[in-house]
Amino acid sequence: MVHLSVVVPCFNEAEVIDAFHTALLAALEPTGHPFEICYVDDGSSDSTLGRLRQLAADDPRVHFTSFSRNFGKESAMLAGLRMTAGDTAVLMDADLQHPPELIPRMLELHRNGYDQVIAQRDRSGEGAVRSALSRTYYRLVRRCMDVEVVDGAGDFRLLSRRAVDSVLSMPESNRFSKGIFSWIGFGSVSFTYQNVERAAGESKWGGRRLLNYGIDGLLSFNSRPLRLAIHTGLCLFLTGFLYAGWIITDDLLNGVDTPGYTTLLTAIVALGGIQLATLGVIGEYVGRIYHESKRRPHYVVSETDSRSRNRPAGPALECTAGARQTS
Ligand code: UDP
Ligand code: MG
Repeated sequence: MVHLSVVVPCFNEAEVIDAFHTALLAALEPTGHPFEICYVDDGSSDSTLGRLRQLAADDPRVHFTSFSRNFGKESAMLAGLRMTAGDTAVLMDADLQHPPELIPRMLELHRNGYDQVIAQRDRSGEGAVRSALSRTYYRLVRRCMDVEVVDGAGDFRLLSRRAVDSVLSMPESNRFSKGIFSWIGFGSVSFTYQNVERAAGESKWGGRRLLNYGIDGLLSFNSRPLRLAIHTGLCLFLTGFLYAGWIITDDLLNGVDTPGYTTLLTAIVALGGIQLATLGVIGEYVGRIYHESKRRPHYVVSETDSRSRNRPAGPALECTAGARQTS
């Protein structure tokens, strides 16, 4: 019997948390596996924390950690994974978009020897514009990134203990979990399920947050944008060189007669634009280095349940592979 830990990040989910908890228990209890549920309250401003306190008081299998403010889903997932003591961990959302009924199937696939079982959603019921944009993004990302990220394969997945420990061994503070899960490797298998609408409440992902998440993803796992800048620079230099050669030859053969105002202006504007964009890319990386070098903890804990095994947020580099949270 594998011991299962379910990790659930929650941010303002008071409206659905009870329904979610009931559905989760209904899915877990018949499997016969011992389990624990690790909720992380990501600084909710509604009554989520109160609900979690109650759930933990009523059931010793429920644990929770609450953050001092909203630190984002990535930090919440990290805190949740640090709480786990099971042989496997399942990461899932609290809004019932990740159907708990799929967990037995994930366990089944895990028994076949896979360290990561990924439940991949299709895009049914999603707005046409949004799904077209996501598809384009993934096509772009696949070409630009050193790790493979798959469209629809989000955070709903089962990880074996060693996969969890590997994820925890990555100290970076700019956490892009899709990339992290792919980077750690191990045998993985995925299956598709039909996309479900959020049960209640609102998605926290507006257009701007999604765009920033997309840029994060592109920059977190490689330095190819910098390489692209070098290539663009080289191409421009070569073109300029050839053009200059052509003008000089033309001048020598036919005499000087070109005012060339338009050409000059176009060249200056285009070059200026490219230089600014490149500077922006470099700036992003420098910003990241600055951010990482501060080695801040990923989150600050304000409260845990009395039995929680979670340690308070330590320095980012404190957590190492194989470190299991006990006591
Ligand atoms: N979430 C979180 N912190 C945040 C935003 C979201 O812990 O800052 C949680 C949220 O409670 C939910 C999951 O992450 O359990 C997914 O969030 P959401 O449903 O808003 O995202 P979507 O499904 O639209 O991608
Ligand atoms: Mg959702």
